[in-house]
Amino acid sequence: MQDKRFKRVAEFIEPFRVKPGSKVTLAKDFDPSFKAGVSKKKDGVALLAEGVRLLTEYQARLAAQDSWGVLVVLQALDAAGKDGTIRHMMSGVNPQGVSVHSFKVPSAEELDHDFLWRFARHLPARGEIGIFNRSYYEEVLVVRVHPENLDRQKLPKAAKKGDVWKRRYREINDWERYLTDNGFRIVKLFLNLSREEQRIRFLRRIDLADHNWKFSTADVEERGYWDAYQRAFSDVLTHTSTEWAPWYVIPADRKWFERLAVGLVLAHTLLEIDPHFPKVSKQRREVLLEVKHGLEAQAPAGAARDPFTNGQQDGKAPA
Ligand code: AMP
Ligand code: MG
Repeated sequence: MQDKRFKRVAEFIEPFRVKPGSKVTLAKDFDPSFKAGVSKKKDGVALLAEGVRLLTEYQARLAAQDSWGVLVVLQALDAAGKDGTIRHMMSGVNPQGVSVHSFKVPSAEELDHDFLWRFARHLPARGEIGIFNRSYYEEVLVVRVHPENLDRQKLPKAAKKGDVWKRRYREINDWERYLTDNGFRIVKLFLNLSREEQRIRFLRRIDLADHNWKFSTADVEERGYWDAYQRAFSDVLTHTSTEWAPWYVIPADRKWFERLAVGLVLAHTLLEIDPHFPKVSKQRREVLLEVKHGLEAQAPAGAARDPFTNGQQDGKAPA
């Protein structure tokens, strides 16, 4: 049963995975409106609910086991639905086991450190799922598309020599490998929106009064750099999809499909970790049974000695 479910999820997400070592050209290799054979939103909604149930169950186990941690890295173009996706991912989970951090333009203090410093400070703990809304990948995306960002980083001359981006890819890969080796799995999601769908979503933000707050003129300016971003993303996917931390390119033109795919990629990682509720030792179990007998002896007249076991000695609830 477990294996069957794992296989189904693995098959569903396979088309989104960027094979390590492959060269990616975003526009050619990934279709933003792909639906993986789920033709109707109605069928998608049922799958979506199953995905949320899976996340709920496995997040509880991950937290109880307190050994592995999961970092979800979310990158996208503007209006691709990052915020809605995070809301959806959070819908079934215990807030105590999840953290979300949004990364903006770096502060003066942050610029005074190495580029990974501010991200390291917000990594999830063991047992936790940490979500990065934008991430250290901005350091090879927006910083690359607008190189004046790099000038602000106060790097010594020697650190700007040669191919800065290739070096950053390597440093990111090394860092992710280090984290993975130490029990932190990294789930990297790129929400892939088409240029036309972005145009429609921007218009929607203008046309609907209660969406006006979401609209930013800066986003429309960034749209002017569409091709540069497509190239930068293609390069990132080519150079930083690794065996230990592969990228998933999520078709984002249909929100319901995007959420389904994101949920299942995360579920896949949790199924792979396969965390378990800790089992107590035999000695500890004996102590528990002794306490149980003491509590049963205190039952008032007429009350069940133990309403959970109907008097069974092994402490197991009746089937
Ligand atoms: P938002 O996610 O819409 O709140 O916007 C956050 C802004 O921060 C975006 O315009 C990003 O491009 C920008 N940003 C995020 N990380 C960096 C970075 N490392 N350097 C420069 N700008 C960044
Ligand atoms: Mg924005």
